[in-house]
Amino acid sequence: MDDVQAYIESHRQSFENELAELLRIASVSADSRQRAETRRAAEWMATQFRQLGLATELVETGGHPIVYAESLPVLGKPVALVYGHYDVQPPEPLDEWTSPPFEPTVRNGNIYARGATDDKGQMLTHVKSVEAWMKTIGKLPLQVKFLIEGEEEVGSAHLEPFVKEHREKLVCDCVVISDCSQFAPGIPAITYGLRGIAYYELRLRGPRQDLHSGSFGGAVTNPANALAVLLAALKDENNRIQLPGFYDDVVPLTDREREEFRALPLTDEQFMQQLGVTGLSGESGYTSLERRWARPTCDINGLTSGYQGEGAKTVLPARASAKFSFRLVPNQDPRKITASLRKFLEDRLPPGIALELVDHHGAPGVLVSLDSPYMSAAAAAIEAGFGRAPVFIREGGSIPIVTTFTHELGADVLLLGWGQNDDNTHSPNEKFSLDDYHRGTRASAQLWQELAKTTNRTKKTQ
Ligand SMILES: [Zn+2]
Repeated sequence: MDDVQAYIESHRQSFENELAELLRIASVSADSRQRAETRRAAEWMATQFRQLGLATELVETGGHPIVYAESLPVLGKPVALVYGHYDVQPPEPLDEWTSPPFEPTVRNGNIYARGATDDKGQMLTHVKSVEAWMKTIGKLPLQVKFLIEGEEEVGSAHLEPFVKEHREKLVCDCVVISDCSQFAPGIPAITYGLRGIAYYELRLRGPRQDLHSGSFGGAVTNPANALAVLLAALKDENNRIQLPGFYDDVVPLTDREREEFRALPLTDEQFMQQLGVTGLSGESGYTSLERRWARPTCDINGLTSGYQGEGAKTVLPARASAKFSFRLVPNQDPRKITASLRKFLEDRLPPGIALELVDHHGAPGVLVSLDSPYMSAAAAAIEAGFGRAPVFIREGGSIPIVTTFTHELGADVLLLGWGQNDDNTHSPNEKFSLDDYHRGTRASAQLWQELAKTTNRTKKTQ
């Protein structure tokens, strides 16, 4: 292991040069004018893998190619699958970049370029760590598979079918993804939970057409009023969601999780300052981080009805609609929520109103047990690479590809973010700290060692 880490130390410059080389390729997946460049990034990745002696394929998809590579199987040891993406967001607006987006430039220890942190820099740490093993020990202590796509920034349309179709090839014990952030500078983190979602549109229809609110108001149900009443009924005054059975499947926070969250350096005052709000609210009995990461929510995302133009118009609108969504936590099932919601609304529908409920999309949440041996392996690896143990955090949003890996491959997903929250992902002046690049590479090299110590096919004991 010392030789591996010494290799990483002595190759800092060449690793940085190679990152810069990849960052010079304008692999903007959304831009058809960059099709050839996007392909060039896929080929660049494939060349890296071939040079390491991995069995490598460039898989055509009908969109941008998927790069797949794997090292040799190691009997009795687990299999790790690294997921990443070589495509990047469009760089516009160009005039807001201090240095051009595809001319990587180092300032204050950060490398600035589109894709620096999302995801070329973070992804490359795992390739360089494999290089360090191959060039010193000559082989890896476990089998590592790489699945690198070129359509993450445009919705990964071809990845899910690929995963479903190649379940056998992709079979693994854990999936490693570095495409997110540390908790704060100097505080590395492992993200072990994501919320799910259930997104709806409710359309209410009343009279045949808009009516005069003076002549008819008071005798006819107003769809906008009805919408307000229905939406308000979804939560009580303690912000508890009122759908029958809504909380039945919710996995409660453990004492250990609550302690971990409480120890994180983020006060409500700092949080309010970040957002520019003068107060906070949420479900009674939970802290802000618990509410954001581990409790389900209901939020209205859009409201439409009546007159929105200049001045006053005394109208009783014929229609009203709302888009709203629930953020779900493990193990809530979006289909059960839909059934409960439909009945809840129908039971409360006032006379003279017709209802249409559109189920836009749903995805369950993901939770990896903190007792998973792979989780402990990742924590030890991060401590070795970053010089401090990681904190365990959750994320309030959803990452669809993680759900796919969890459901299709049945593997524990390790979200190991090497970035920082202020890396300007998707924005001008995207950056990645070169120190974090090297720390991430060290942690990754250690991860292969730590994972190899775990027993093959150990299932979580939750
Ligand atoms: Zn990304």
